[in-house]
Amino acid sequence: MNKFEIVMGLEVHIELATKHKIFCRCKNTFAEASNRNVCPVCLGLPGALPVLNPEVLSCAVRMGLALQGEIDRNSRFDRKNYFYPDNATAYQITQFYAPIVRGGQVEIRTEDGTASTIRIHEMHMEDDAGKLTHAPEERISLVDFNRKGVPLLEIVTEPDFRTADEVIAFLEKIRMFAMYLGISDGKLHEGSMRADVNLSLRKHGDETLGVRTEMKNLNSFTSIRRAVAYEADRQARLLDAGKAIVFETRRFDEADGTTKVMRTKEEIMDYRYFPEPDLLPVHLPEERIRSLEAQMPEFREEKAARYMRELSLTQEEAQILTRHPATAHLFEETLRLWADGEPTPTEGTRRKAKTIAARMCGDLMYLCREKKADPGTWKITPEAFATLLRMQEDGEITTKTARDVFAILFDKNLDPMVYVNENHLLITKDEDALAAAVDAVLKAQEPSVSDYLSGKEKAAGHLLGCVMKATNGQADPQAARKLLLKKLAQLKAENETTE
Ligand SMILES: [Zn+2]
Repeated sequence: MNKFEIVMGLEVHIELATKHKIFCRCKNTFAEASNRNVCPVCLGLPGALPVLNPEVLSCAVRMGLALQGEIDRNSRFDRKNYFYPDNATAYQITQFYAPIVRGGQVEIRTEDGTASTIRIHEMHMEDDAGKLTHAPEERISLVDFNRKGVPLLEIVTEPDFRTADEVIAFLEKIRMFAMYLGISDGKLHEGSMRADVNLSLRKHGDETLGVRTEMKNLNSFTSIRRAVAYEADRQARLLDAGKAIVFETRRFDEADGTTKVMRTKEEIMDYRYFPEPDLLPVHLPEERIRSLEAQMPEFREEKAARYMRELSLTQEEAQILTRHPATAHLFEETLRLWADGEPTPTEGTRRKAKTIAARMCGDLMYLCREKKADPGTWKITPEAFATLLRMQEDGEITTKTARDVFAILFDKNLDPMVYVNENHLLITKDEDALAAAVDAVLKAQEPSVSDYLSGKEKAAGHLLGCVMKATNGQADPQAARKLLLKKLAQLKAENETTE
């Protein structure tokens, strides 16, 4: 194996989260009942004519700009002819001769910090096929056309990958582009993003590419890693034994970790591509491209760098907060509301940013894991979060109350001010009640009190916890601590005089 270099190129399909399908007005939604989102166009009925959904075009231009590619102002659609039961039209509408994007490049960094540049060959728009479900025991196959006509972007790279780590870093970056552009949810396991890996081997130092195989529809980073390792090893053994690699499409078998032949690869001419006669060429005015360019979002890496530079967050915090655009949005909006027009960055906004980041990287991420919730599915709003932080800052509620209410707001859309009032969680200034609670705790927690008196100062922490609990979290922690220590000092003094 060591005498060979692995060379890989990718074909990445991104399912767009547009309202409608690419060439008809059918809804583009996931997981509805079978054959619900269908019409004469996506069913390929005679006489039905496709019309390009302009939303798909905007998504394509925006992704093309993120890839730093050249946007073709005159792209066209072509027919790729093939029959398959999930493809009612017997052809796919794609862009073969004049794709919307040519060239481009993406800078990637693998987990061990190695940076490289991946060149983009092209990106085009096309429609997805339907879906077959096989029930072998009943000897039937079912077809669902809901997915037929769902818009796809296909990104084709140059063969610039040498390791599975690079492939994963690239896909992660594309996923972030798609999510920050708001054009796809980027979920690999639900098929919103699928990657085909073309892999060949060559001797180190060789310039020419070896014969490649294509591995289809790998839908998790783990399968990509396993498939690449297996396929590289399989090819190396064949080459070592003096055998030739066959140009073919292979399927990765999750169960045994091997790749198996799906079909020997068709030649491009087998598809008899020809210009789609039912669709006009796409003319994009330059101003349209420029206006989409002006609306490009700040992507993950720039955002993370800015959080570190302007707000003094740590690299880890910046990474966590930018992993999903919904998380970054909650962070930025909460800060904006809480800082209330304070110019960034000041000491004040930095301190606030730090507090928000701590609660989000800690409690929020914990809640997401615990409830198996995706970022953005939470009910907490920046308004509610900022209100809660302001109440904590003003000493109206304790940190513990703020965290408890935060956890409740995760699932419920509530006004934190109303919730805190109704549940009597405001810090009380009632000194008599506090004194009574402290006395009661000192009496009830005899062993901890003697621990403290015999020099174990840590026992004070436990006693303070008991006081806070006894007051239902409503005591002002500062005042409670002060009073507790004062009473303990008194007890100590009494103890010493009696000895
Ligand atoms: Zn339709």
